[in-house]
Amino acid sequence: MTFKPAGSHYLDGGSGDGRGPECRVVDPATGDEIWTFTADSPAEVEAAIAAASAASPGWSTATPGERSGVLLKLAAELESFAGELAEVETAQAGKPIRLSRQFDVPGSLDNVAFFAGAARLLEGSASAEYSPEHTSSIRREAIGVVGSIAPWNYPLQMAVWKVLPAIAAGNTIVLKPSEITPITTLMLAQACSRAGVPDGVVNVVNGPGAVTGEALVTSRSISMMSFTGSTAVGRHIAGLAAANGTRLHLELGGKAPFVVFDDADLPAAIRGAVAAALINSGQDCTAATRAYVHRSLFTEFVDGVAALMSQVRLGDTGDEDTDLGPLVSWRQRDRVAAMVERARNDGARIVVGGGAPGGELSRGAYYAPTLITDADQRSEIVQEEVFGPVLTALPFDDDTEAIRLANDVRFGLAASAWTRDVFRAQNASRLIKAGTVWINDHIPIISEMPHGGMKGSGYGKDMSAYALDDYTQLKHVMSDITGAVRKPWHNTVLQVCE
Ligand code: NAD
Repeated sequence: MTFKPAGSHYLDGGSGDGRGPECRVVDPATGDEIWTFTADSPAEVEAAIAAASAASPGWSTATPGERSGVLLKLAAELESFAGELAEVETAQAGKPIRLSRQFDVPGSLDNVAFFAGAARLLEGSASAEYSPEHTSSIRREAIGVVGSIAPWNYPLQMAVWKVLPAIAAGNTIVLKPSEITPITTLMLAQACSRAGVPDGVVNVVNGPGAVTGEALVTSRSISMMSFTGSTAVGRHIAGLAAANGTRLHLELGGKAPFVVFDDADLPAAIRGAVAAALINSGQDCTAATRAYVHRSLFTEFVDGVAALMSQVRLGDTGDEDTDLGPLVSWRQRDRVAAMVERARNDGARIVVGGGAPGGELSRGAYYAPTLITDADQRSEIVQEEVFGPVLTALPFDDDTEAIRLANDVRFGLAASAWTRDVFRAQNASRLIKAGTVWINDHIPIISEMPHGGMKGSGYGKDMSAYALDDYTQLKHVMSDITGAVRKPWHNTVLQVCE
């Protein structure tokens, strides 16, 4: 990796170093240190918020067409170094280069292009005379300074999902990426400047959640906090934001069910389950994590998934042929391993995987693709987010039981149903409580459609024009259309006749 950021933060159009604790960015495939920085302290966070506040009046009053023009340039600018972005993403997050090149970076670029267009869709609505003396209209306005905190699993995509709808709508932003994968977010901020985004509109601060993140959340100078990350941290942040009355957008964890009915195309479901469970080493909030399979297909499904998982190529993340990279860190790998061990000790059967590979790969944070059966529905491995290449499979006997099991977790981010029956598909999409339900597929996302959770997976939508709703506020404007000095409603308050 050749790119090295010029400092821990990017604020008001310039780079600089923080005065907080030292942080290291490490390639989890090799253990090599790729960058060291000093984290931003509350002082740098306040400086970033001040820059965002100063830039807010100018940016919020730019026309949608002006904002769109700059964002189109940003899309072109990012495209011009897409290859480098993919390489850095692979180095800092341990993603196979094929995934970075074909999923992370193109998905991010498409999202930038989408919001460049969507900036011009922002509209209020001219309403009507709900009272005979007045015309009412609705203005959709920017909120102000948005504070944002992002996770490590898709660093560039998460940064784009946070920054683009916020600034397309006329807000300014201070974003804190995960301290273990901050580099592509800093590259995005610099690209904003080169594209002509005014200084102070996009600011990045960087450091551990408890130091840099909390300084951002607790600032009284932000108007909104937008968070993507774990449910536990999301709840903590919700408490901090509530204390200041700060508006909140939360995208939290997931535990997606993958429901295979008895009429499903089994080979398609098997291949779909392995791909959807292993994408990004399972560190995907929508990854397939719980397969529920009709008892008549269960054995064949388990055998098929186990066979395919055994063929998955773990290896060098720079190699185009590698399917599966390491987890993002040794800490994450150990967390996944401990959860699988607890499942094993509780009586679950590890059909395939269930440990770290040896040999060359032992210097990275790798974990083998793992399929687990015979776990209890109420057990930790079925109920809690593992965020690793781990799939559980349980049988069901009828459709009602399948839907009940699919909904029987606190999360509700994504789900899929596999069936050739259109009525079953309709029922599953209606009854499963999740922000996205796929039919006969699992994982694809598109910029035009919203992404966001139900239940414990949070609220608010990323991507799509619906995200613009989250990053704007409505104003009702009511105009007198009579020109009269005495209005009929005055009689309710004033009996005085002058
Ligand atoms: P995390 O919650 O540990 O950290 C997320 C971010 O919060 C990081 O930037 C971290 O530094 C910061 N943070 C941690 N503690 C904080 C605190 N006390 N105050 C302020 N900020 C704090 O999550 P992670 O491990 O980085 O990412 C994985 C999680 O993200 C998973 O649970 C996954 O499901 C979730 N996720 C959700 C979505 C979605 O769209 N719903 C998308 C991607 C990831």
